[in-house]
Amino acid sequence: MINFNVPPYVGTEMKYIEEAIASHKICGDGDFTKRCTKWIEDKTKTSKALLTTSCTHATEMAALLCDIAPGDEVIMPSYTFVSTADAFVLRGATAVFVDVKKETMNMDENLIEAAITEKTKAIVPVHYAGVPCEMDKIMEIAKRHNLVVIEDAAQGIMSSYKGKPLGTIGDYGCFSFHETKNYSMGEGGALLIRNPEMVEEAEIIREKGTNRSKFFRGQIDKYTWVNAGSSYLPSELNAAYLWAQLEQAEKIYDDRMNTWNCYYDNLKELESEGKIELPYIPDECVHNAHMFYLKAKDLEERTELIDFLKAKGILAVFHYIPLHTAPAGLKFGRFHGEDKHTTKESERLLRLPLYYGIEKEKVLYICDMVREFYGK
Ligand SMILES: *Cc1c(COP(=O)(O)O)cnc(C)c1O
Repeated sequence: MINFNVPPYVGTEMKYIEEAIASHKICGDGDFTKRCTKWIEDKTKTSKALLTTSCTHATEMAALLCDIAPGDEVIMPSYTFVSTADAFVLRGATAVFVDVKKETMNMDENLIEAAITEKTKAIVPVHYAGVPCEMDKIMEIAKRHNLVVIEDAAQGIMSSYKGKPLGTIGDYGCFSFHETKNYSMGEGGALLIRNPEMVEEAEIIREKGTNRSKFFRGQIDKYTWVNAGSSYLPSELNAAYLWAQLEQAEKIYDDRMNTWNCYYDNLKELESEGKIELPYIPDECVHNAHMFYLKAKDLEERTELIDFLKAKGILAVFHYIPLHTAPAGLKFGRFHGEDKHTTKESERLLRLPLYYGIEKEKVLYICDMVREFYGK
């Protein structure tokens, strides 16, 4: 069987985890967390990144930092992972879903403004498959309406929009290091903060409402409980695993990109014949090969293709039942405007296996099997 995903492993993870154990520092914010944080800050040219226990938690922190409260509305796509909405509905907000663009499956920036009401507090673009949303337009709308922008860049690390790394364009950016993402620590994430004035409050929320970070920097002589907070810092064992990956980030990136290009090159003939559709990368956008998907004609054809590939030993999967059609979506959200593409396109999309180190023969075999399905 060809797995859909295999968690990334470069080989130095065990060594670093052992180092963390030997240093007698396995709780959060030790040496490995510092290294990872610095790497993220350098790589994204952001002044502040905080490692978190997940992207969901990074988004929750962002919701706390912009004081999302019951009655507020937050605009986001419906075609996304539940965490995008969870972080806000947990604070009592309503998720207002707008339709996606067919080409990228990203929220249609032209539909955002009509969804804004006096209750709207934030816009949450999701960079689907690591392909950037139209951030210039989104930032312009947010500025005009005085809204916060929180980028769900869970899939977007190492991607960029007009030269700017994803996660650094909005007020907050959220990364994921889940085992299914390009770089992993099992479960984990990061919060990127653009406004330096918000950093102290973020550190306090992350450290159980204490000013412990300031204490460790020697800026105060004792630490105390100063605000409501939680515990959003990952253990050093997880950070050690992540450090191994970040150290080899380029290698992982290149490997995934080769796989992505191999899929693209071998399937584009089917696309030009109108049998399938392939991902589209807008100009001035650099993606990170997070995902390779194709779109079948419809739900029925996709189901047949999944079964066909399974019989050939290939696990291909789809995802995201549009949130507005899910039980919690009906309870906590509403769809603004017409669902022209979200449901229809979600039923056509199929993800092919893509993970660090997948052998080229496997990728070629998968392409052959897809071509065979379409009568080639
Ligand atoms: C993976 C993912 C998340 C959640 O990430 P976790 O680190 O598992 O919390 C959120 N949003 C999107 C778009 C994702 O793909």
